[in-house]
Amino acid sequence: MRLSHFHLHTSKETPAEAEIISHKLMLKAGMIRKLAAGLYTWSPLGLRVLRKVERAVREEMNAAGAIEVLMPAVQPKELWEETGRWEKFGGQLLKIKDRKEAWYCFGPTHEEVITDFARNELASYKQLPVNFYQIQTKFRDEIRPRFGVMRAREFLMKDAYSFHVTDADLGREYQNMYDTYGRIFTRLGLKFRAVFADTGAIGGSASHEFHVLADSGEDAIAFSDGSDYAANVELAEAVSPGPRAAASEELRKVDTPTQKTCEDVAALMGIALTRTVKSIAIVGSDADGKPQFALALVRGDHAVNEIKLSKLTGLAEYRLATEAEIVEHLGAQPGFLGPVKPVKNVRVIADRSVAAMADFVVGANENGYHLAGVNWGRDLAEPAEVADIRNAVAGDPSPDGQGRLGIARGIEVGHVFQLGRKYAEAMKLTVLDDTGKATTPAMGCYGIGVSRIVAAAIEQNHDDAGIAWPEAMAPWQAVVCVINPKNDPAVAEAALALYQDLVKAGVDAALDDRGLRPGAMFADIELIGVPHRVVVSERGLAAGSFEYRHRRASEAENLDRGAVLARIG
Ligand code: ATP
Ligand code: MG
Ligand code: MG
Ligand code: MG
Repeated sequence: MRLSHFHLHTSKETPAEAEIISHKLMLKAGMIRKLAAGLYTWSPLGLRVLRKVERAVREEMNAAGAIEVLMPAVQPKELWEETGRWEKFGGQLLKIKDRKEAWYCFGPTHEEVITDFARNELASYKQLPVNFYQIQTKFRDEIRPRFGVMRAREFLMKDAYSFHVTDADLGREYQNMYDTYGRIFTRLGLKFRAVFADTGAIGGSASHEFHVLADSGEDAIAFSDGSDYAANVELAEAVSPGPRAAASEELRKVDTPTQKTCEDVAALMGIALTRTVKSIAIVGSDADGKPQFALALVRGDHAVNEIKLSKLTGLAEYRLATEAEIVEHLGAQPGFLGPVKPVKNVRVIADRSVAAMADFVVGANENGYHLAGVNWGRDLAEPAEVADIRNAVAGDPSPDGQGRLGIARGIEVGHVFQLGRKYAEAMKLTVLDDTGKATTPAMGCYGIGVSRIVAAAIEQNHDDAGIAWPEAMAPWQAVVCVINPKNDPAVAEAALALYQDLVKAGVDAALDDRGLRPGAMFADIELIGVPHRVVVSERGLAAGSFEYRHRRASEAENLDRGAVLARIG
């Protein structure tokens, strides 16, 4: 690739609208351009990186035995009614109508479509186990899209769905996918951690999330320093203001007999609640006069102004819910939310986004395991607070009795679930077993945020000069920079020859023949994060060498052609 024939459009300005480093750098490097909230165009440069991630995911999924398919993005309402999710999925589901007034949604996920495919395709146990996957565009009408492609509304996901006659076989494939995810994230050069997760609205029994560790992460993970124990309880969705059904479905997932108040969780985890964050529940009515129930989180000790719940929830009028109403609406245990008392002089810590809020909660799964989690958002993420919590946690034993708990922030880049038979039963998927009897297959589903990974990788790999891509994700592995190509044909020729040698050696290389001044050219190549840079100049040629520098090295070195090829190849 000759950069003179490419569309590279970098900027020196730091974009004001971007809060986190990956968003800033993706804009500065010209990888993405915003069309509307949560909708981004991938530029030629950005797309090269996205495709590299896609390729790693695809190759590892294929190697693990999964089979690629491609399903429609637009899905008919009828399928979603079969599973009850047309109503239950909540506000993230973008509902659309065609010219015949028939309803569809833009798929946020594909359990319904794949189960429909399976009930038409799969008839016998002999076709199982099977794991179908796709890499495809999803749409979720996120309450607060932010951080660029990190939390977009339209984004690229790899989603896989497996079908099994026995639970044991589902468990085996779950482990296969778990191991495959480890290989994918390792290959992409990410520092990650697999954590126990809540199964959430998707339902099912076993679930792990894969988190890229980064201080800007929206999730908090409690992990042990003495064992593999790590857990995240996601509350962001659980407290979404919005239709009662969605809130109630979300809340039920943490509604176990051992549910605790914030203070209980703090005691259990040995966390000193330096910042108390409370859930409050309200009832009211919307603009159409329809009764509504909503939850909000408020930060008690940061009282600054009157709570603006009507703005927060979009309700025309409201009052605080009574405990009886909460129990009724959420099916929660009495006492779960603590006494509901009038609040005043508290600050709403975020607008409609509950993802930017914090809570402390614990539940237990069927093994008696504690899903101990702390979930806080950027508004609470001043370093002192993170440090406070880390310090407070130190010395509390891990729930599995081994080691001590610590807290890290993470970005969810992958999620594996054992769905069980929930979808197969709802959609009447059966196959004949080896005795000729109809049996309902067990299912697993496995997601990876392909586009989110691009941003997550930058959070872990950057410096003052810009992005420093892990090799597998870089737009190019190497760039040959030509100094003064127009005025110096010998230099231009030598650079072209070196570039061609690299390409022949299988290196994904580019030739920077744009004729920029060295300073501007080097700044671009550093900003866009290319791992290997080779400079071809008149002075170097005279000395028989090229100036080589690795993106992470502090100094350049003068190397001959062979040494350059050896470094990069
Ligand atoms: P989150 O907790 O961040 O909202 P999720 O749990 O809702 O994610 P899943 O349903 O598990 O997401 O989807 C699989 C993967 O898709 C996630 O692990 C994440 O990497 C990615 N993903 C989900 N929502 C978004 C989004 N709005 N923008 C970009 N990637 C996303
Ligand atoms: Mg999640
Ligand atoms: Mg989500
Ligand atoms: Mg998830």
